[in-house]
Amino acid sequence: MYCPSCGNQIPDRSTFCLHCGVRIDTPGADPAVGWEYKDFVYIYPEGRRPKRGALSIVQTRNHIWSGQQSFLFSKVQEWLDDGWEPITAIGPSGFEWRSYKELDLNPLGGTFLARYPVEEVVAFRVKMRRPRR
Ligand SMILES: [Zn+2]
Repeated sequence: MYCPSCGNQIPDRSTFCLHCGVRIDTPGADPAVGWEYKDFVYIYPEGRRPKRGALSIVQTRNHIWSGQQSFLFSKVQEWLDDGWEPITAIGPSGFEWRSYKELDLNPLGGTFLARYPVEEVVAFRVKMRRPRR
């Protein structure tokens, strides 16, 4: 099928467009069919977690999303091929963040510790469903 908003080809029965993120009504869906639900989750390995820099939170989310988009799409695609359909947006809102204070030794010596707040992406999540088999 094709996205009614941007015209790109997307998997049949998609509830969101992979390209522009628009929500798509699927009138053909059979309400009598039961659904099974499962989350697609990609956990970023420690040391390879995208971090927030000097940008605002919104800018950071969009910046990280543009860098991770094609990688995450390829992972999500495996689920779509397996019959899952996304019910939450495949976009920057899927990132899960962790905030912590990084401790560092005082460069002037002594025991004083300076604390730097760090925000990093630990995971990317999309809620999925597919007809019960
Ligand atoms: Zn679209």
